[in-house]
Amino acid sequence: MSSGLQERDEIVRLLSGAPSVALACHVGPDGDALGSMLGLGNALRERGTQVVASWGGAPFRVPAAYDFLPGLDLLVPPEQFPAAPEVFVALDTASADRLGTLADRVTSAQCCVVVDHHASNTRFGGVNLVDVSAAATAVLVADLLERMGEPLTQEVAAPLYTGLVTDTGSFKYVATTPSVHELAARLLATGIRHDLITRAIYDNAPFGYVQLLGRACANAQLVPDAVGGLGLVSCVVAAEDLARSGLGLADVEGVIDVLRVAQEAEIAVVLKGDPLEGGFKVSTRSKGAVDVGAVCTALGGGGHRFAAGFTSHEDGEGTLARLRAELDAAPHLPV
Ligand code: AMP
Ligand code: MN
Ligand code: MN
Repeated sequence: MSSGLQERDEIVRLLSGAPSVALACHVGPDGDALGSMLGLGNALRERGTQVVASWGGAPFRVPAAYDFLPGLDLLVPPEQFPAAPEVFVALDTASADRLGTLADRVTSAQCCVVVDHHASNTRFGGVNLVDVSAAATAVLVADLLERMGEPLTQEVAAPLYTGLVTDTGSFKYVATTPSVHELAARLLATGIRHDLITRAIYDNAPFGYVQLLGRACANAQLVPDAVGGLGLVSCVVAAEDLARSGLGLADVEGVIDVLRVAQEAEIAVVLKGDPLEGGFKVSTRSKGAVDVGAVCTALGGGGHRFAAGFTSHEDGEGTLARLRAELDAAPHLPV
């Protein structure tokens, strides 16, 4: 069942009638942020709508893993983003502050539409399609486009498939329903090269990354009695190490997926030093016994129940101590 039917109808009406639409996604965009935004952007452009897309954070550089996406030419740096768009759509963005320097468009736009699936979503738009059961924002975009009668071209399908594959952890997470696979089948039926897409995202990085991954894993700490005895594994990727390796924050998104393999730990945490702003971007993952979304929301961040993050301006030790205190106090869910 689709939730938010009224909102879906309203968004279809808005997108079908607007001569120009401005799209944005969360800062530090991931596969679903970029994929849902560019999938929608490409579809709107194909029907003759004027489209721009952006995110409000530095650096304004598409992460290397996603530089194959069709529709990158829709991107404008945030400084060139319209000051008062007619229709502004925020995709995969849980709260206005996650729009970074574009957050003011929420109020300056004639109409602000939110399309998202985060449990922590604050419903900051004028129209809010927030479906927490959706595996990815790309799923919601695919549904909106179907309602609009837009054809699924390869230019639309490739970004949407990117959002779907990344937010389901390659179709492994619990949100991977039969309808997720049905959507994947429809996207593949357009003839997109899913093998090249997943290779670009997961199996293609500079050698410097492989070495940095080794260092990150070698310095990882396992604390079996943390989180009320459920176990915590953590590691730090220092900003200096990133700089030395010629890598950015976006290039080390995958470190957490290696760390969370440790069977002794329910919770995995990666502290990523921010080379531009200082402090740490913190990624957390749970295997199902702790709602890390609630934990990270309490720490000023947000996310999903089992994959969430926050930004910390403390040092590494202080950050981990604050997170550990919050994790220790978190209720254990039935698994
Ligand atoms: P990541 O660990 O960066 O892959 O993020 C996991 C999930 O948490 C994603 O859905 C992010 O959008 C969300 N998230 C990460 N950092 C933050 C933050 N500072 N504020 C709100 N949500 C976040
Ligand atoms: Mn995202
Ligand atoms: Mn998402």
